[in-house]
Amino acid sequence: MRSLDDYSEIVGDRVISSIYRKARPLSGKHILHINSTYQGGGVAEILGSVVVLMNDIGIDTGWRILHGTPDFFSITKKFHNALQGAPINLTEIKKRLYIRANEDFAVYTHIDHDCVIIHDPQPLPLIKYYTKKQPWIWRCHVDLSNSNSALWDFLKKFILRYDVMIVSNEKYKRNDLPVEQRIIHPAIDPLSPKNMEISEAVISKYLRKFGIPRDKPLITQISRFDKFKDPEGVIQVFKLVKKKVDCRLVLCGSMATDDPEGWMIYKKVERKARELIENKEIILITSENSILVNALQRVSSVIIQKSIKEGFGLTVAEALWKGTPVVTSNIGGIPLQVINGENGFLVEANDKKGFAERIIQLLKDPNLAKEMGRKGKEIVRTNFLITRVISDYLDLLNDMIK
Ligand code: UDP
Repeated sequence: MRSLDDYSEIVGDRVISSIYRKARPLSGKHILHINSTYQGGGVAEILGSVVVLMNDIGIDTGWRILHGTPDFFSITKKFHNALQGAPINLTEIKKRLYIRANEDFAVYTHIDHDCVIIHDPQPLPLIKYYTKKQPWIWRCHVDLSNSNSALWDFLKKFILRYDVMIVSNEKYKRNDLPVEQRIIHPAIDPLSPKNMEISEAVISKYLRKFGIPRDKPLITQISRFDKFKDPEGVIQVFKLVKKKVDCRLVLCGSMATDDPEGWMIYKKVERKARELIENKEIILITSENSILVNALQRVSSVIIQKSIKEGFGLTVAEALWKGTPVVTSNIGGIPLQVINGENGFLVEANDKKGFAERIIQLLKDPNLAKEMGRKGKEIVRTNFLITRVISDYLDLLNDMIK
């Protein structure tokens, strides 16, 4: 099992010692995280590391998954989109199904912990169905700055019951919410299979296994097939780049169990790019495979992240950590990670020409690409490694649990 000690080589002894110090008063406390998937997307990615490391430092931390039917996940996906600004037809039946799944889960999920941390909107109403005996924290990972107001008003009734709301960015705080709001920037685990060092032999093996040739420079976007990740826009950018530099595009997007729209968007992308896919100019991947993601983030000449909305964008930090330059939208949590022209390029989300120009620039100037990658890695080391998230959670728990 991974242990906090293993991280000292990367972050230094001072950070490790400070985490142990903060963990001491919480020793033996029982914490529970609840979200709606073990796999796929950034929340599961972070919890997979946080939960293991918290236990390692003596805090009994559990992780449970809210069970939902396909109907439930189709509704909560609409909620997720609407929280980020998409329109929604918020009918009574949707509200009822959403609440019912939470109510049922509460009946058979017994909670007697010292603190409960609920992630994202899917399990948000749970709080209403328990006798509240401990602090409850709502950890929201999406961008709330432009939420659909009808949905926000509906969800707010549940949020008001919480002790604290955590968001990923100062910009996502709500001034119409009289609940304490704090910020925790997400981060990546440098020792997880997705981010650990891997050899050239492993990289080659995985690329071969997934049928990805290396005869041309690779441009890659690692993202669920989701309209806010704009895979169709990525293809248009790729077509512009290809006019100037011969290269190949990989769209790698595993399917999350709480995201029913994935296959629909995938099929649309497949239809739009049929010829390029047949010629292997574009490669689509839907398998969940951390080592493959790791390999792609290492061998790609450029990582593109062309999101239209992005709560934080772990994929950006993952690429930067591997020293790979990123061309990405100036949106949501991404500018926290990328300083334009320093460790990557920020482009306005709808500026396809701008994306293409920056990618071409990096493909033609390997020295610039290398230098940006080097700076990117240091920014991640300082700000976006999992040890900092652990430290932030410990500060929060020390404030909440007396
Ligand atoms: N991811 C993955 N395989 C894929 C696509 C995505 O493992 O095919 C991971 C990705 O590496 C990152 C997470 O899913 O760790 C996505 O997090 P991000 O914050 O970028 O976006 P989200 O999916 O949470 O909106």
